[in-house]
Amino acid sequence: MHKILIVEDEDAIRMGLVDLLEIEGYEIDVAVDGEQAMEKVKQFLPNLVILDLMLPKVSGYDVCRFIRKSFPHTFIMMLTAKNEEINKIQGLEIGADDYVTKPFSVFELMARIKSMLRRVSQDVPAAPAGADILEFDDVRVDFKKYEASKAGHPIELSAKEFQILKYLSTRRGEVVTREDLLQAIWGYSIENMPTTRTVDNQIVKLRQKIEADTENPLVIKSVRGVGYKFDPPEARR
Ligand code: CA
Repeated sequence: MHKILIVEDEDAIRMGLVDLLEIEGYEIDVAVDGEQAMEKVKQFLPNLVILDLMLPKVSGYDVCRFIRKSFPHTFIMMLTAKNEEINKIQGLEIGADDYVTKPFSVFELMARIKSMLRRVSQDVPAAPAGADILEFDDVRVDFKKYEASKAGHPIELSAKEFQILKYLSTRRGEVVTREDLLQAIWGYSIENMPTTRTVDNQIVKLRQKIEADTENPLVIKSVRGVGYKFDPPEARR
């Protein structure tokens, strides 16, 4: 199920959107100011953020920049009032994917949201029961708490890196192609695939955090010309 965070300080609009989107079956969370929005983005990890531009505490512009920097694959739909000086270029420059002007048509908003979310992958396949914890070599990953450690020391993984590990671990021992990862993790469709270098760069970063020797990776192995294989050594206790 796709997750949508609604960031709007005007109660009527926020509550209207909650009702509307819940009926459509999305999982919803809300924030009433910019500060809360950034917290919720980190905790809730939405696929899409509906972001009002004029917000208390931290502006929608700054929230937008924060999301783009830290969660580059989260979609952002800006809400702006007619009298607010935003044009398409400005909105898209700071990283919004789309925007609507208040008062907006509910049908138009829904259509745009649906078209954005069609670009998001299906959720990462459900891991088998009890798979909230992944252990291999000297690494331990807790997918529920978004915590990870190596040799007992905490390591910082990005949301994307957690997703990649989770996805690869559900397909342990199989070769996973770069295209497969682009679809499953980044949500690209076959028609609009970016260069597979996106995947390679991300894997390089992830290896630096979890592999003992990045020149000779033992956890995420490269399969030349095809993709990657998660085939780690057993957990050391
Ligand atoms: Ca506002």
